Amino acid sequence: MGTRVGQSGGRQLELGGDGEAGQRPFGLGPPPRPPRPSVAASPHRAAAAMALTAGVIRRLDEAVVNRIAAGEVIQRPANAIKEMVENCLDAKSTSIQVVVKEGGLKLIQVQDNGCGIRKEDLDIVCERFTTSKLQKFEDLASISTYGFRGEALASISHVAHVTVTTKTADAKCAYRATYSDGKIKAPLKPCAGNQGTQIMVEDLFYNVNTRRKALKNPSEEYAKILEVVSRYAIHNSGISFSVKKQGDTVSDVRTLSNASTVDNIRSIFGNAVSRELIEVGCEDASLAFKMKGYITNANYSVKKCIFLLFINHRLVESAALRKAIETVYAAYLPKSTHPFLYLSLEIAPQNVDVNVHPTKHEVHFLHEDSILERVQQHVESKLLGSNSSRMYFTQTLLPGADCSSSEVVKSAANSAAIAKGTSDKVYAHQMVRTDSREQKLDAFLQPVNNPLSAGPTEVTAQDSAGLPEATVRPQDAEMEDVSDAAEIADAQRAAVTAGGPSESRDLTPETVLPRKRPREDTDIEMEKDNNRKEMTAACTPRRRIINLTSVLTLQEDISNEAHAGLQEMLHDHSFVGCVSPQWALAQYQTKLYLLNTTKLSQELFYQILIYDFANFGVLRLSEPAPLFELAMLALEDPESGWTEEDGPKEGLAEYIVEFLKKKTEMLKDYFSLEIDEEGNLMGLPLLIDNYVPPLEGLPMFILRLATEVNWDEEKECFESLSKELAMFYSIRKQYIIDEANLTNSQNEDCDSGSTWKWTVEHIVYKAFRTHLLPPKHLTEDGNILQLANLPDLYKVFERC
Ligand code: ADP
Ligand code: MG
Repeated sequence: MGTRVGQSGGRQLELGGDGEAGQRPFGLGPPPRPPRPSVAASPHRAAAAMALTAGVIRRLDEAVVNRIAAGEVIQRPANAIKEMVENCLDAKSTSIQVVVKEGGLKLIQVQDNGCGIRKEDLDIVCERFTTSKLQKFEDLASISTYGFRGEALASISHVAHVTVTTKTADAKCAYRATYSDGKIKAPLKPCAGNQGTQIMVEDLFYNVNTRRKALKNPSEEYAKILEVVSRYAIHNSGISFSVKKQGDTVSDVRTLSNASTVDNIRSIFGNAVSRELIEVGCEDASLAFKMKGYITNANYSVKKCIFLLFINHRLVESAALRKAIETVYAAYLPKSTHPFLYLSLEIAPQNVDVNVHPTKHEVHFLHEDSILERVQQHVESKLLGSNSSRMYFTQTLLPGADCSSSEVVKSAANSAAIAKGTSDKVYAHQMVRTDSREQKLDAFLQPVNNPLSAGPTEVTAQDSAGLPEATVRPQDAEMEDVSDAAEIADAQRAAVTAGGPSESRDLTPETVLPRKRPREDTDIEMEKDNNRKEMTAACTPRRRIINLTSVLTLQEDISNEAHAGLQEMLHDHSFVGCVSPQWALAQYQTKLYLLNTTKLSQELFYQILIYDFANFGVLRLSEPAPLFELAMLALEDPESGWTEEDGPKEGLAEYIVEFLKKKTEMLKDYFSLEIDEEGNLMGLPLLIDNYVPPLEGLPMFILRLATEVNWDEEKECFESLSKELAMFYSIRKQYIIDEANLTNSQNEDCDSGSTWKWTVEHIVYKAFRTHLLPPKHLTEDGNILQLANLPDLYKVFERC
């Protein structure tokens, strides 16, 4: 079991074990002196002063001396039990059973299967300074037992009735003896018994009135006993322990000899703790210490810290170590919650000293600060290494996140965490506490009468005079909540018989929620389908299953390109603010980033189009928009690059209308782009809830739809069409800048003043968290730039 106690320069180094003697050198100096009755400090000082006669010093009765001394070692039943359990461990027992009555005050019985006590030693076993563990002073340096000075049994026998029943391996029978005040009371009695020792302690403190009165609460004492024994049980896996009340059939603590440390933690502290354990272990030769144990990860927290600390195999306490570790956890656990910790430290015996009171077991040791720091670092690295994925993705992500996309997030992020391993540790000083779910004040300051969807819609509409209105229609019938397989099958059958999903879009009035009219003069309305909260990647059963190889390949391309680190950043970022329609600032950990909203939103919409392929809701235009006019508008825009050589605009526009009319079925079915027979645009895909694309971009989109999309190859067609749509949907400065100017120059209090900013933060960046698998190239092409990090800023401040 290794060296437990040691001796250096005559100093007593035992760790709070055998009691009061722990404060003086063993073998050096006299045994503890009885406290002298202090006559001089008599309350009748005045009278004494007048008489000026010295008090008479008398030697105390030996029994009183012993009782007082015993009280120092044995303060409560749990102390006695700890001493007795340590004796069992010293006797190499593999089974230790404790039975108590009235919290140990009436009876403590400790039974083991150890080496037993020799018959000839039974006479003196309860006398002071009788021990089988230490023969000469020099042995102290190498002693590996808990006890060594023969004081515990003696102390107990001074404050209780003790009965020892014991049998050694070579004895023919067991022997029993009873003791009082250290002395055997009657001749030994031979009796039947198994190998090992049973020690019975009855009527603890029967002769110490004050102590007995102080320990009035047996259940409190029992709790203390359970605590002590269970901690020894965890530290001594391989040895079975049990504690129960006399008369009970079921034990309150019970561990098995073949159980592991984790098994024991599980059986004592429960599954909630044991399943979140991380094994820890480190050592440092220069600091002459080793540490091992188990600690809970960031998924587990309790109101009160549970800290099982063993130093050189003794159950001790160290407020400094506790604090050091709790500091590490503070960065991981919710406020005012704590971890479970079991640590076993082995420190070179010459470096450990026991401080203060023997029953408190508070320890200090040499190089304490350095050792604490090492332990701290190790705990931190372990916490980070094994927790980042679970902490971020099971614990904090889930509220509100949808299953499908979080699944994608999870796997990629997990692999990122694993790949990172423990090599790039992040210590507490490198961390900033941010909560990506935290809302800023302005989240609560939505424009009056302008719930959620209203902001972006309204403004877009205002500036898009002459352009059609959009209305979000409820989901297609086949996209409604279909919770079981039969229903999915039915829905699919219905879709097939109706000649394709587009035909089965019969809306029943019940599925239509009351319309939200944000403002009377708004020209875009939205209806929200309650059945579908978020547009997500294709894995939920309520969706049309897409098995087109082209789409699946495009999906695969996206996931192969995904950058896990960026994804984690986007997932957990804290939004700082919009610099412009194109650029926004976000913080992640200790770093500040400048993000290209245009590029990221483009990527976002593209990915939604590919992952959600053929599963979109419809943004219905309240008035049909003639494709011809849209095409004309686009051709008049210099950006279209139209020249005389291309022929008359009308002719081109005509051609565009006719061309797109041939594609209506596919556009409607796969992209929810609805065009009626007259060549009017009726609806656009709903890609994220509450988001309407800037309709100023619509004419150019229509033009590009006819001219830039590769209509010949399936995969290329879906890809380029999605790219065009994504561009149209993205946040682009040319379609927003006017409104921004308007806001700054005139309309400070206008409730539409900050709508695009609101949309960027609360709709677009929110969608980035869970819906975007950022491609690797974003890290290199300047679309995501790291502007600053805290450590560097600190350095700047330091220089100031
Ligand atoms: P210490 O443990 O310091 O030696 P104790 O007063 O605790 O002193 O015990 C005195 C002696 O009694 C021990 O040295 C040991 O020989 C014997 N003893 C006590 N308990 C047991 C036990 N459970 N099994 C075997 N021997 C025991
Ligand atoms: Mg002992």
